[in-house]
Amino acid sequence: MSRVTVVGAGVIGLSCAVRLLEAGYRVDVLARDLPLETTSAVAAAIWYPYRALPQQRVSAWSQTTYTVFDALADTDPESGVVMREGTEVFAAPTPDPWWSDAVPRLARESLLPTGFADGWTFRTPVVEMPIYLAWLAARVRELGGTLTRISLRGLPEPAPGNVIVDCAGLGARMLADDSSLVPVRGQVVRVAQFGLERWWLDASGPTYVVPRSNDVIVGGTDQEGEWSRTPSPETAAQILDRARRLVPALADAEVLGHRVGLRPVRPAVRLERVGDVVHCYGHGGAGVTCSWGSAEEVVSLL
Ligand SMILES: Cc1cc2nc3c(=O)[nH]c(=O)nc-3n(C[C@H](O)[C@H](O)[C@H](O)COP(=O)(O)OP(=O)(O)OC[C@H]3O[C@@H](n4cnc5c(N)ncnc54)[C@H](O)[C@@H]3O)c2cc1C
Repeated sequence: MSRVTVVGAGVIGLSCAVRLLEAGYRVDVLARDLPLETTSAVAAAIWYPYRALPQQRVSAWSQTTYTVFDALADTDPESGVVMREGTEVFAAPTPDPWWSDAVPRLARESLLPTGFADGWTFRTPVVEMPIYLAWLAARVRELGGTLTRISLRGLPEPAPGNVIVDCAGLGARMLADDSSLVPVRGQVVRVAQFGLERWWLDASGPTYVVPRSNDVIVGGTDQEGEWSRTPSPETAAQILDRARRLVPALADAEVLGHRVGLRPVRPAVRLERVGDVVHCYGHGGAGVTCSWGSAEEVVSLL
């Protein structure tokens, strides 16, 4: 059986590990940060193709991932994936998005919050990342894979016949010597659940309100080239102000905490094989959204 070393234990590395194990490879995952410490753990996370290119590949990966999440929500409540309806709003009339073919139905919305002129409603996966990443890691172990904490200074040298899969996210800046990869800082506020069922999204900001089982994630920011992982109280206040336009009930919500993640953004996602290395990183603001589609393409490259 061929052996594969996956570098990275975020949503991309773990999804690749699962699909590779299912395809019969022996898989060892190496990572500096364990799943719950990664950028992936900070994601809101709804299925939504955001800040990831090129459109055609992202759309195809997203469509595959939508189908997998939809099935998981149906068959495995332990996975932390739930299908929820929600609305994206706009200040001015807006044409259908480039990724509209990736969702089964996108309906124009007439019931809009004050100050918005257009919007569309669709049903999409909401992925509760702390639960989902733990579920993915358990799946890796169940299938016979290993997960080891190690901080690498370079990609490991593959033994003859073996392959390295580079899912290091922003870490690929150093590991793959790729300076086109930049951080795009996202800050979120976690508030206690107050009975919210629908998600809301306004691309300006960006501003989003994503309900989970016991809390609600309120975002966000999109600061390119900013490396600080320290939450800013001023930014948190601005986020909540913007979000109250979408969901006024947030005014009374109890704030539970603040988090920051650095999205790994690149002019285009890098998913290609170079010799014995498959690079799979740079998924920007859509790593969760592209995860299963990307993992399936990685398997096809082996
Ligand atoms: C606030 C916020 C909200 C978001 N919301 C959404 C959303 O709603 N939907 C969506 O699809 N996406 C969302 N995203 C984007 C998503 O989080 C990322 O695209 C995704 O997490 C990228 O996953 P990844 O596995 O490539 O990287 P990461 O999760 O960063 O994982 C990288 C892994 O590589 C390891 N690594 C790096 N360097 C080294 C090294 N030198 N040695 C060993 N290991 C190393 C790390 O330790 C880690 O384990 C959001 C992001 C943020 C910040």
